[in-house]
Amino acid sequence: MDIFREMQNGDHEKLVFCNDNTSGLRAIIDIHSTKLGPAIGGCRFLEYHSEDEAIKDVLRLSKAMTYKSAVSELAYGGGKAVIIKSNSCEDRDGILRAFGRFVESVNGRYITTVDSGTSMADMISIRSETRHVTGVPVEMGGLGDPSPITALGVVWGMKACLIELYGNNSLKNKTVAIQGVGNVGYHLALLLHKEDAKLIASDVDAEKTRRLGSEIDVKIISPEQICYQEVDILSPCALANTVNEDIIPHFKCNIIAGGANNQLSKEEDADLLHQRGILYAPDYVINAGGLIHVVAEYEGMKMENVYENISKIYQRIRKIISVSREKDISTNRVTNSMVQEKMNKLRE
Ligand code: NAD
Repeated sequence: MDIFREMQNGDHEKLVFCNDNTSGLRAIIDIHSTKLGPAIGGCRFLEYHSEDEAIKDVLRLSKAMTYKSAVSELAYGGGKAVIIKSNSCEDRDGILRAFGRFVESVNGRYITTVDSGTSMADMISIRSETRHVTGVPVEMGGLGDPSPITALGVVWGMKACLIELYGNNSLKNKTVAIQGVGNVGYHLALLLHKEDAKLIASDVDAEKTRRLGSEIDVKIISPEQICYQEVDILSPCALANTVNEDIIPHFKCNIIAGGANNQLSKEEDADLLHQRGILYAPDYVINAGGLIHVVAEYEGMKMENVYENISKIYQRIRKIISVSREKDISTNRVTNSMVQEKMNKLRE
């Protein structure tokens, strides 16, 4: 892999390789951009087939954080870290503490938080070596799990889509199909239930759907069926690439609005949705609640401020939809060009 070429192509500022023989830590921190402020983004702790795969993952995710932060009007740039999990990862605390020392070594230019494979408890280990970490449990002085807040942001985004298509933003009696009822999808289902929406849900983990079904009125269907339901809203809350050219012709929904990252397999998929008249709430706008939450914790804000900032997702998506309608281009293209314009201005 030609690392400098990859960095140039994606306009990345700094890539840090971290090795600690004592703990066995092998990690990579990518600081995509600090133009808007210090780079913030989660730390993954996963197995990778190769170093190239880990580098590609961290570069892609870090750039996406710059976009998410910029569109959410946060004074932060994008960053990400991956800890490469090995078969002999036994000293988890030692690995995380070593990682914390590397975070400290970049002097606040990168702030880390929870991501796939790491937990709020892990942030406590990291915090013993650096203060540039956020996403810790309430009992340890943090704001706790960001998932309910991410879900709340998704509800605001859904309402922005509903008012465009139906003339009012009520979720009452609207049908919503949720793909994946893990952290975000579960809380989303509870919020939608309170709004009197009609819910359909699926998960590959039967225990997750069983738990949800025991708490609220929801129709559970198989993961293979969820994307083909005739519904007002399809809400991807599980995986990347739910929206792709093979499935788009088969969608029977009016709106796609969910919490998952990287819902589109490529930018052109948003064009296809636009042509089909399916309104798409760009993922990195609608699911920014988690980022807003961890930034608030880092800045020592209260939950009241978080709720106020989350509600802004509604106006943000309404604006994107309105430009999309005026220019007759996809909501995703509108959002990407808004961010690119903002970044270009900073360069001038
Ligand atoms: P999670 O792992 O708790 O939940 C994902 C759920 O999807 C799991 O229950 C899993 O079993 C299920 N799933 C996997 N494949 C599936 C399939 N084919 N069909 C149906 N269900 C399937 O993760 P999460 O924290 O809820 O995050 C979900 C998505 O939202 C991810 O893309 C994540 O990156 C994104 N996201 C999460 C947050 C947050 O605050 N947690 C913030 C922003 C974005």
